[in-house]
Amino acid sequence: MGARGGHRRRRLPPHPPHRVREPLRAGLARRFPYREPVPELSILTVHAHPDDESSKGPATIARYHAEGVRTTLVTCTGGEEGDILNPAMDLPGVKERLPELRREELAEAARVIGYDEVVWLGYRDSGMPESPANADPRCFARAPLEEAVGRLVAAVRAARPQVMVAYGPDQKGYPHPDHLRVHDVAVEAFDAAADPDRYPEAGPAWAPDRLYYVGWSAGRSRAIHEKFLELGRPSPFEGERLERLLQAPERPADAPEPTVVDVHGFTAVRRLGLLAHRTQVDPESPHWFGLPPEIADELYPLDEYELGRSRVTPSGEGGDDLFAGLRDGTAVRADGVGSRA
Ligand SMILES: [Zn+2]
Repeated sequence: MGARGGHRRRRLPPHPPHRVREPLRAGLARRFPYREPVPELSILTVHAHPDDESSKGPATIARYHAEGVRTTLVTCTGGEEGDILNPAMDLPGVKERLPELRREELAEAARVIGYDEVVWLGYRDSGMPESPANADPRCFARAPLEEAVGRLVAAVRAARPQVMVAYGPDQKGYPHPDHLRVHDVAVEAFDAAADPDRYPEAGPAWAPDRLYYVGWSAGRSRAIHEKFLELGRPSPFEGERLERLLQAPERPADAPEPTVVDVHGFTAVRRLGLLAHRTQVDPESPHWFGLPPEIADELYPLDEYELGRSRVTPSGEGGDDLFAGLRDGTAVRADGVGSRA
């Protein structure tokens, strides 16, 4: 105790109580009503390969980014097993630099779409079942589930998203092992990220409010097919693919109602994002680019999602916004805790 350095402590008179006249206080309260501090809105999407982010829901990301939502892309694999699918890029030296090029391509696609951040989970792609790539122990499908979940948990805790987007359990149309794995890893990470006892080294627990699945849209594919026929052009849907498209069953009565996001005005990022993957996507591909851009962009400006998990009420099934009730805090945690806790 005692004064240090020879200085004597000045005695200050007792502080008078702070007085605010009541009418003034009421006026301030009216003008600046107290609100819960709203943290940054954030969405995190999990995709299997570089280019999946451009074919599955990119316009949704563009729209939310334009609205000020923070956007994070997690890409699980490096796409090393991809061939050079654009003949114009099949040049000497390109195959050798493929991993590096695919990183550059993804960075460009992410920029075009409106992702603020790209996180690589660091796995090799697995190739289709029975392929040699699928036997590589470094591939995503063979990685220990616990390890892959831990890496995603770290990304989730860093980005603190209210909304996560991954793939659904049903990948019948394209049963790629990496796509199936995205589902398993994302569902597990949605739970684990919220549990402080799991992966404590991966940062403070964070509980995303909702997990949605983005899927292949039969409606969009049918609209594309019909537009080709209407314009008298050969449809890219033929043979078995056409058969499957035409037989795609209507949504079963007990299926969850989809959440349909209006992406009118943002659809061009799908085309531009795909074009950024220049070793993978042939700009002459009739499947992706067979319609004039101005027609393709207007054709089906809706992205469809299925609710997979929810910690809030209302759950977020149906409707037209993945963030419904999360912007203004009207959605509450099912356990009674505010969704922003
Ligand atoms: Zn993929």
